[in-house]
Amino acid sequence: MRGAGAMQFDVVIVGGGPVGLAFAGSLSGTGLSVAVVEPQDEATLAAPAFDGREIALTHLSQDILRGLGAWARIPADIPSALREARVLNGGSPYALRFDTTGRQASELGRLVPNHRIRQALYEALSASPGGTRLLTGQRVTALETDVDGARVTLAGGGTIAAKLVVGADSRFSGTRRLAGIGAEMLEFGKSMLVARMRHARPHGHVATEWFGYGETIAMLPLNGEASSVVLTLPPEEIARMAAMDAAGFGAEITRRYRNRLGPMELASTRHTYPLVAVYARRFAGTRLALLGDAAVGMHPVTAHGFNFGLHGQDTLAAGIRAALAEGRDFAAGPVLRGYEAAHRQATRGLYLATNATALLYNDTRLPARLLRGAALRLGNHLRPFRQAVVSRLMEETGGPARV
Ligand SMILES: Cc1cc2nc3c(=O)[nH]c(=O)nc-3n(C[C@H](O)[C@H](O)[C@H](O)COP(=O)(O)OP(=O)(O)OC[C@H]3O[C@@H](n4cnc5c(N)ncnc54)[C@H](O)[C@@H]3O)c2cc1C
Repeated sequence: MRGAGAMQFDVVIVGGGPVGLAFAGSLSGTGLSVAVVEPQDEATLAAPAFDGREIALTHLSQDILRGLGAWARIPADIPSALREARVLNGGSPYALRFDTTGRQASELGRLVPNHRIRQALYEALSASPGGTRLLTGQRVTALETDVDGARVTLAGGGTIAAKLVVGADSRFSGTRRLAGIGAEMLEFGKSMLVARMRHARPHGHVATEWFGYGETIAMLPLNGEASSVVLTLPPEEIARMAAMDAAGFGAEITRRYRNRLGPMELASTRHTYPLVAVYARRFAGTRLALLGDAAVGMHPVTAHGFNFGLHGQDTLAAGIRAALAEGRDFAAGPVLRGYEAAHRQATRGLYLATNATALLYNDTRLPARLLRGAALRLGNHLRPFRQAVVSRLMEETGGPARV
């Protein structure tokens, strides 16, 4: 579908978020011409502001970022080691523990602020040789695809013709909607507040997730005596916490976290997110693919949304490279369906398990309370279960993990 007056590219990526930028980077060196359409301006992409998210990156994700030239652009003192994760339930001191005992790696993963990942991906893409054009300050408003190609219309009226259009425009993806692809959506009726806290006691690089009754509070260990608080509450309570003065907020988080790390002080801006999980009914259509949160938007409790997005774009890029190497059409059905099948297989189980966990630990009724406690104790005693979760969390790439 090549029209007069349209800009022409091989691939148009809608969304210059971390997954869209990673995918553009993965295509560099293929000889394909790529456009990334992103509503934010280029200065914002080059130096994104802190957004409160600290992303727990698996070993595989770190390797993919290395391959993209992005990892080396994250200053060495920023990634914070995640050595152990503990899950606590209600008022009980009993914890389900996940650690690296018996494994090659000494860390479950590393925490890196989302804005630093975005900045590193932007810088790596800017430094890579040609091929990608960033169309910033632009938004896609219409989309047509057929067997010959795709055509997207921009808000200003311009059009882009391409052989493949890729939607990487968030869990509320306009591309998905314009392509007529439905999605399962699960609204948890809760919001999440994230911020950095300074505290007196050391965290020992242990993350804790404490499921109270009516609230969930996680602490993610950052370098220095600091942690990221991740608080889940009904939206009106989150709004109240976000508006509180800094001293009052620090005192309330100290109290809610039961003084486990001593007195805590607010050390950053606060950011809030609605909790909605999304799973697209299809990840591929005619000359179209969905990546990142547009395909699978995870509840953050298992820290896998970006990890999945990064792997998914890597899978699609590998399929495209293989097709190009064999002289096949890189945007034809078999390539896109291959990506869809692999990504569904990689994500569906954890997506469902994550939602079930989030719903169970949101439920304060007595049967759920009993089940919550029992699930934790059972989990600790089932070594294969713990090993399977740790393998999933770590995604080691240096050969099979020793169990
Ligand atoms: C509090 C929190 C903590 C998290 N922690 C983790 C974690 O520990 N580990 C993990 O793996 N994941 C985590 N995640 C998930 C992770 O942040 C997301 O999975 C990731 O940001 C998805 O990237 P994306 O590029 O697909 O989408 P987004 O980051 O949503 O980016 C989408 C981009 O598309 C652009 N866009 C929107 N509309 C249009 C349009 N019409 N046209 C063009 N462009 C458009 C947007 O401006 C944006 O730049 C967390 C999420 C939250 C909220």
